[in-house]
Amino acid sequence: MRYLTSPYAYACLVCDKKVCGGFEISKYEKRAGGVLMITALATKDLDHMVCAVCYRSVHFRCSKHPDSGFCDGCYDKACAAALKLNVEVEK
Ligand SMILES: [Zn+2]
Ligand SMILES: [Zn+2]
Repeated sequence: MRYLTSPYAYACLVCDKKVCGGFEISKYEKRAGGVLMITALATKDLDHMVCAVCYRSVHFRCSKHPDSGFCDGCYDKACAAALKLNVEVEK
């Protein structure tokens, strides 16, 4: 059993408490051309996500946007960037 964990996955960004769980590699598959397909499943005790931008851990219960894959700070930044983009497009 191997776990994919972030080196920063120790404490929640918001409440500073330890996070639990991770991802378990369930299947390795070698495809044509040497492409390696890895299927990873979340462990049952998973209670947090790792932000796709800054790789910091946030509990689902602490995040304002648990389904976004971003911590609150990065989510806000992404929204601000998107808003800016809209404004520029509308001009
Ligand atoms: Zn937390
Ligand atoms: Zn982040």
